[in-house]
Amino acid sequence: MKQIYLKYGKEDSLLRFHPWIFSGAIHHWTEEPEDGEVVEVMMARADANKKYGEFQCAAVGHFQHGSIMVRVLSFEPATIDRAFYERRLQAALRMRQALGLRQQSYRLVYGEGDNLPGLVVDVYGKTAVMQAHSVGMHVDRQIVADALKAVLGDSIENIYYKSETTLPAKPGLGPENGYLLGGGVDDVADENGLKFHVDWLRGQKTGFFVDQRENRSLLERYADGKDVLNMFCYTGGFSFYAMRGGARIVHSVDSSQKAIDLTNANVELNFPGDPRHQAFAEDAFKYLDRMAPDAYDLIVLDPPAFAKHKDALRNALKGYSRLNQKAMEKIRSGGILFTFSCSQVVTKDQFRNAVFTAAALSGRNVRILHQLHQPADHPINIYHPEGEYLKGLVLYVE
Ligand code: SAH
Repeated sequence: MKQIYLKYGKEDSLLRFHPWIFSGAIHHWTEEPEDGEVVEVMMARADANKKYGEFQCAAVGHFQHGSIMVRVLSFEPATIDRAFYERRLQAALRMRQALGLRQQSYRLVYGEGDNLPGLVVDVYGKTAVMQAHSVGMHVDRQIVADALKAVLGDSIENIYYKSETTLPAKPGLGPENGYLLGGGVDDVADENGLKFHVDWLRGQKTGFFVDQRENRSLLERYADGKDVLNMFCYTGGFSFYAMRGGARIVHSVDSSQKAIDLTNANVELNFPGDPRHQAFAEDAFKYLDRMAPDAYDLIVLDPPAFAKHKDALRNALKGYSRLNQKAMEKIRSGGILFTFSCSQVVTKDQFRNAVFTAAALSGRNVRILHQLHQPADHPINIYHPEGEYLKGLVLYVE
């Protein structure tokens, strides 16, 4: 295994079990690793007099040229083989079993949160959708898939690999999408007793957003007799929960016609022919501008990440303020607003501040009823706070 030597003084984050090693921390290597190769990270420790001792292997991880150069898989010497992945996947599964999530659609692997940086696995019924965010996981995809099948056994028949949009553009990576096991086409999955199609072949991310499961359940509790707007509906998750909760009307809006088609198909699966639901392909800001005041008493705003990088932060916060202000200005008196941000670079406080600005500019009396976050199958590794991304507020607008 090729070895990477850290600079003196750059070992602190490793000693705190942070799983990323940045290029600036690296002093030299024995031989330049290829992208995706497993490497040993060598670290020397200082004594009380700042005198550095011998170098020792302090971690093993996937190498990749770029700002994050090593994603740590183990903080002790280890062989990264199928047995290694089986142990990690078994640990991930044990945690989901403790949560009672086994029968549902759920996230089995959430990257660093499950000590498998660069890997995401969502399970939808008999199909696991696997996604690599690092070249190392891409290189290892088949042994990960074999380990996944060994751990999940007969409960799954298909493993679809879907990494076209999540891998860096590098030549010669080989197929980034395709079945690694099976090839089944039964795409109907279940979430809390509601059915939905998962378009793992063409949909965004792994085909469905399992991270809103609990927040959708909360919305169901508030939906009875309400006129509901589900903005940025994608596959319509919040919409069919609202319908089951007894909403009077539900309008789903998304700028993508494909999303609207998916939403209509999902509503049809659960409530065939139900006239309460209508879907519109339109830009959110335009829809909110032209909609009549007092049209809705329950509004969901679940936009895509407005900031994917730190340099987009200021504009993203302005975007959240503008969006929320428009909804607050128009929601019925006594209305409830579910508002979210899934931008990892936007902190909970920054998001709350953006919503505060929106409330002040709308002039409405606003109270916070709930503070929402990602569910337990998207666990945050305590040593890797960057894993926290989803935050939401439920507001009562007087
Ligand atoms: N609420 C969804 C997930 C939303 S993902 C769920 O529960 O699953 C974000 C969605 O916003 C995508 O479907 C995307 O097509 C849509 N979108 C992006 N920009 C938009 C815009 N300007 N107006 C309306 N929809 C937009």
